[in-house]
Amino acid sequence: MIELESLVRPNIAALTPYSTARDELSGAPDIFLDANESPYDNGFNRYPDPHQTALKQRLSEIKGIPADRIFLGNGSDEAIDLVLRVFCEPGQDNIVAISPSYGMYEVAAATNDIAVRKVPLHPDFSLDEEALLAAADAHTKVLFLCSPNNPSGNAFPNAQILDIATRFKGIVVVDEAYIDFSRIPSLASRVDDQPNLIVLQTLSKAWGMAGLRVGLALACPRIVRWMSMIKYPYNINVLAQRTVLEQLRQPVAARIAEIIAERDRLAASLPALPFVRTVYPSEANFLLVKVEGADALYAHLLRDGIIVRNHSCVPGCEGCLRITVGTPEENRRLEASLKRYQP
Ligand SMILES: *Cc1c(COP(=O)(O)O)cnc(C)c1O
Repeated sequence: MIELESLVRPNIAALTPYSTARDELSGAPDIFLDANESPYDNGFNRYPDPHQTALKQRLSEIKGIPADRIFLGNGSDEAIDLVLRVFCEPGQDNIVAISPSYGMYEVAAATNDIAVRKVPLHPDFSLDEEALLAAADAHTKVLFLCSPNNPSGNAFPNAQILDIATRFKGIVVVDEAYIDFSRIPSLASRVDDQPNLIVLQTLSKAWGMAGLRVGLALACPRIVRWMSMIKYPYNINVLAQRTVLEQLRQPVAARIAEIIAERDRLAASLPALPFVRTVYPSEANFLLVKVEGADALYAHLLRDGIIVRNHSCVPGCEGCLRITVGTPEENRRLEASLKRYQP
């Protein structure tokens, strides 16, 4: 078993985090003269709760994960950046990531002056476990997986991810942004017996709150504490915390089921189009579709007012468009536009 303490940057381990007078609060004051806020109540004159206690409590109930295993960030993008800043020494350490995958791991690494070792997936987008582990050296602190993977749409077997986490002597991040659309269960419940595992989830996709910017990192309490120590104290604003709590009362299961049904319907219908070569199996809310003349098809859809993601230049995705599943009506418009297309 790896010593997590030996992976943390020494300056982070030694850090004294910013604390507020309200952190030391016992009693229940009703006059707040400690933070130089405006005293006039307009609904957001007070600083937000830096610990997001109410929100974590609610998410803990929904996810069945204890609140001290939950870090909340300004989107999971913040969590990606903070994981790098906790574990990777700029100019010295590196990360391993799969390719093709989500672009933010590379951007966050470049911002932090951390080298990225990209390991291609197999042509069917399955993991090359041996190549991943072989790419790591003594300076590899973090290995990023994304499952279900963006943009390929497939999920990796949990047993394989756990095997990698057991064999790799660093942190394994599993980005589960699309887990709610997948048949594969989340790995979040495994962070206690596999303490080098960090599971990222987000409210941006299945929960429909991309505009509110809330992402989760689910990890053992020590990792949650390090990440919390270095985040901006007020990283999730009052309106976001309040609105997310309200939105979490709205059931999303029916919407998720509808998106999955539409995804599977599109996956079955698109191969009949003459210019479609492959519709890759998806466990997410999008389809990666290999077509003849991807750029021309992309332009055709755009002329019809439909924007998809053109991945035709992404290594491993040559000739592919990534199409998000919309409402049934949007998907019918997409299909109608595709049927009209003359290559
Ligand atoms: C959309 C997406 C996210 C979401 O990021 P947020 O910052 O939480 O909106 C994270 N990871 C992947 C792989 C994604 O596709």
